[in-house]
Amino acid sequence: MENVVILGAGPSGCTAALYAARANLNPLVLEGELSREILPGGQLMTTTEVENYPGFPGGVTGPELCDLMKQQAVKFGARFVGKTAKAIELSARPFTIHSDDESWQTKSVIISTGATARYMGLESEERFMNRGVSACATCDGALPRFRNKPVVVVGGGDTAMEESLFLTNFASRVHVVHRRDKFRASKIMGDRVCAHPKVTVEWNSVVDEVLGADKEGVTGVRLRDVHTGETRDIACVGYFSAIGHKPNTDLFEGVLDRNETGYLVTQPNSTYTNIPGVFAAGDVQDHVYRQAVTAAGSGCMAAIDCGRWLEAQESPVI
Ligand code: NDP
Repeated sequence: MENVVILGAGPSGCTAALYAARANLNPLVLEGELSREILPGGQLMTTTEVENYPGFPGGVTGPELCDLMKQQAVKFGARFVGKTAKAIELSARPFTIHSDDESWQTKSVIISTGATARYMGLESEERFMNRGVSACATCDGALPRFRNKPVVVVGGGDTAMEESLFLTNFASRVHVVHRRDKFRASKIMGDRVCAHPKVTVEWNSVVDEVLGADKEGVTGVRLRDVHTGETRDIACVGYFSAIGHKPNTDLFEGVLDRNETGYLVTQPNSTYTNIPGVFAAGDVQDHVYRQAVTAAGSGCMAAIDCGRWLEAQESPVI
């Protein structure tokens, strides 16, 4: 029987593992298998340079940061296995977690399965991934590649607005490509974007193809007017997809409380879900901040919440 099984090995999972290990909980981390959908380390693994994680003034690559976090947790006894949870039984304690070929019983669970940025699904997005294609301006926007050069942001929600405004700090021009003639974003954010001298909004447009070359990476995008079907090319060195994130919560449908967009709901200022003994940390429950450092912080909170909960089960106050 495990004390705690942690699902996911991104910043929140690794930090939860570190704290749980140091609390002598001997945590087991299911870090997922090496596949495109479920990468150990989550979204960080698809990021190149991380320049905003405190403690790394020279920057650090996403995979390197994940590896360091994992090493630190392992040093204190956390166990990582390359398995993915495929089914989970939370209706009775102990909880049971199943991978394809193994099962674990556990007193508690910390869910850090993260969220996956959505892309349009173009083959050319895949081809230039990390060579101009990104889904995180906050992570990648300040890279030298984008400095004083035009970039494109796709989307009309608050994320697209935030990412566009952030990119105006670096890029020479930000083209916001939106498929309608009105933003979904809050009015204040939309107005700010429209008024910005460095922003051009490409209304009623979608990206048909990301253009580029093997050596340079992204060199432009081909836009299509959704009404006329007309296409035109825009030169740019960056293509930022900001069409939303999908939290990785399918496994918990109907079992754990989720909000209308699928994020796990935690109690205010804690990582408790609606099932006692089940905690959620990182991007799986956070649609607002979504940063490696905030995910790590909530992983720490989850391990502390979990440790206290386990202690209360074992020595209940009568
Ligand atoms: P949203 O779902 O709000 O917006 C997604 C945008 O992408 C929409 O404009 C949508 O177009 C567009 N889109 C979706 N699919 C496609 C597609 N296939 N092709 C082209 N365009 C597409 O996601 P966000 O990530 O922006 O926001 C998620 C939530 O987080 C929201 O509630 C938002 O308010 C919140 N948020 C809050 C922030 C803040 O308060 N500071 C910052 C960031 C997010 P269409 O409009 O036509 O559907």
